[in-house]
Amino acid sequence: ATDNNYVPFEFIDQGTDELVGLDIDLINAIAEEAGFDIEIEQMEFSGIVSAIPSGRFDIGIAGMTITEERKENIDFSQPYYDAGLILAVLEGSEEEISSIDDVDGKTVATRVGSTSEAYLEENTDANIEAFPEITEAYQSVLTGRADAVLYDKPNVEYYAETEGGGEIVTVGDLLQGEQYGIAFPKGSELRDEVDEAIDNLKESGEFDEIYNKWFGGSE
Ligand code: GLN
Repeated sequence: ATDNNYVPFEFIDQGTDELVGLDIDLINAIAEEAGFDIEIEQMEFSGIVSAIPSGRFDIGIAGMTITEERKENIDFSQPYYDAGLILAVLEGSEEEISSIDDVDGKTVATRVGSTSEAYLEENTDANIEAFPEITEAYQSVLTGRADAVLYDKPNVEYYAETEGGGEIVTVGDLLQGEQYGIAFPKGSELRDEVDEAIDNLKESGEFDEIYNKWFGGSE
């Protein structure tokens, strides 16, 4: 199970109409390394978090942050990507909102079921607008309906440089360090196979190749 709205981890390439991204390359490389076949199904991010525990899917890969709460119902692979949350605003509003301390009473857009939504609920008095797709959150900042957006730094920066056309700028510090893991139903035997495949891809250099393809620099 994956998502299709999360640059540059899983998204639809506008030119080819194909699902591409770091996670897609990674899960294909893992499947080849471990010797199993995969079928990819696309769904809304919050749907993945709730579908994995049910066992309807064997594997979930969607830039999913490893959290203590999710670990109650999901087994995660070893961490494969270091991320964290960052606030962003429309270019020109950096003085009005220069950090998370300025969002109380403001409208902050994010995505349903994400760690950013939880962060806003727990740490701010912002008026939270959570959308099923994160691109809708960025659109609402671009059109002035929301004052800011809170989301994962790699996604915010990639969007800002591409579709965002430089009109969305990040403000303040990284708010919460996070790590992404591949998700499995509790007790899945695939977890160890996948972890071993990740070790092998790191050793062979294939992992770095995938990372560099999407981020143009190694960790
Ligand atoms: N890393 C974030 C989370 O796990 C968002 C992931 C996503 O939108 N695909 O909540």
